[in-house]
Amino acid sequence: MDRKMGPEVCSTTSIASRGPELVSRESHSENTVFNINGIPVGGTEVILMAGPCAVENELQVTETARFVRAAGAAILRGGAFKPRTSPYSFQGLGEDGLKMLAIARSMTGLSVVSEVMDTRQVETVATYADILQIGSRNMQNFPLLKEAARSSKPILLKRGMMATIDEFLYAAEYILAHGNPKVILCERGIRTFEPSTRFTLDLNAVPLLKQLTHLPVIVDPSHGTGVRSLVHAMALASIAAGADGLLMEVHHRPEEALCDGSQSLYPSDFSTLVEDLRKVASAIGRSIFKLP
Ligand code: PEP
Ligand code: MN
Repeated sequence: MDRKMGPEVCSTTSIASRGPELVSRESHSENTVFNINGIPVGGTEVILMAGPCAVENELQVTETARFVRAAGAAILRGGAFKPRTSPYSFQGLGEDGLKMLAIARSMTGLSVVSEVMDTRQVETVATYADILQIGSRNMQNFPLLKEAARSSKPILLKRGMMATIDEFLYAAEYILAHGNPKVILCERGIRTFEPSTRFTLDLNAVPLLKQLTHLPVIVDPSHGTGVRSLVHAMALASIAAGADGLLMEVHHRPEEALCDGSQSLYPSDFSTLVEDLRKVASAIGRSIFKLP
């Protein structure tokens, strides 16, 4: 890499000079494209991942899955283990929630991404999900990165809300260094001085990451804004900026959601958004991947 990259914490001069080389464009000039159940992640087609923040019950997840599948999503998102700020908030249904995701997958043909928060959950989440999500709060949970790497499942790694791009790349490097090359990087907004939105979506990160690494880069405009009415514009902007996919929260009844309802799209919003995403993708020579 031509940029000097060094870990800021616990660094020594000797290791600081060693960059995140496995993830770097220098080590691998072509884009990494991997196939998840027939879905080519990182290629010219843009991959849409959508679903509720949290799995709440079977009806909620299957209804939402049907809507997002019909509208053009390829991957269903939904948390069964939820990292909540308050210990009194809904913490997720655990393995029961994963089973509901698996039911929705068999009903719709969507693949499933779900978060793993703890090394002890990796095996269970990997039993049901096609992609393991490592959330923003765990981006530098190094034992979790290593344990998730040991599973053969692709990993969707979200940028820490206070992580620099270098730290993000080093976190991905952990996964590659521990034998798993299938990492999807997800920009999901960072903390800034601005309180009007939940986070500030750092769209600079998209073209910058595409320059620095060969890994697929996606954007989560739902957490990145925290505001439903801003998701549409920022999703379009993400594709214009070169993102390889989007991760979006959609709920069949957002006002009743147990988690992140105010940033969740209504199913009809999502269908409209996908139509507009097609236009932006086509303007830059890409298309939205469609399941057969
Ligand atoms: C999520 O995707 O549900 C989530 C908790 O995201 P993040 O880790 O980006 O906050
Ligand atoms: Mn959420």
